[in-house]
Amino acid sequence: MIKLGKNEIFHVHTFRCKHAGEERDEEYIKKAIELGAEAIAFTDHGPFPGNIFGNRMGIEELPEYIHTLNSLRDKYKDQIKVYVGLEIEYFKGFDCMANGESHYKQLKAMEGLDFLMLGQHMYETGIGSYSFSLPKEDIKRLEAPGMGQSIVEGIATGYFDVVAHPDRTFRRRKVWDEELAQIGRSIIEQAIRYDVILEQNESSRKHKGQYWTEFWDMAKEISDSRPEGKELKVIRGLDAHETGELIVLE
Ligand SMILES: [Zn+2]
Ligand SMILES: [Zn+2]
Repeated sequence: MIKLGKNEIFHVHTFRCKHAGEERDEEYIKKAIELGAEAIAFTDHGPFPGNIFGNRMGIEELPEYIHTLNSLRDKYKDQIKVYVGLEIEYFKGFDCMANGESHYKQLKAMEGLDFLMLGQHMYETGIGSYSFSLPKEDIKRLEAPGMGQSIVEGIATGYFDVVAHPDRTFRRRKVWDEELAQIGRSIIEQAIRYDVILEQNESSRKHKGQYWTEFWDMAKEISDSRPEGKELKVIRGLDAHETGELIVLE
């Protein structure tokens, strides 16, 4: 596996997502400089038209997010590289909206936004309906295949450079079985095929059921079987929601 992100701080949220600390963006950058990082990549939770989901910035806040971070990028350009990204779910309904537009294509076209990270926290169960509305018993069974499929489809669109915490797909399960192995394999192979990076999420390690060593062992095994230059790319991300969570990983 090719490991990326050495001496960088990757996957940082801001106050705009409504479940992070109140510190402003500049505080994160100052802390990152203090820690000796060469780069910091912001990936706050991306909005959707109509603000139909919680726990993220409003769509009307997006220009300010991009503008503020780009100003800070200029201000600190001699001390640290600042990348401006968004973490966002892939839903087909927003790739092909009623007006014929793609929300993701519009985001990709925004000046000052460097990259999109696919962070699948739920999946689309039908037009305008999502897995969080499924009955509890169904979600246990359906979430992993449903999210896995969304990730595989999302990667193929070419909109995303990174997939956040791919192994969180299995969070409702307790046992690694052949079904999960198949879902995992399809994500890993798709990432290699489209040269998309998979994130090993430090926050997932602290939560039961979110970090799966079985998945990462399989990723290594598949990657090792590929010719040189065609290996899987992996980056470690913090998923920091306050400045106190910033660290430079070894
Ligand atoms: Zn968050
Ligand atoms: Zn995140």
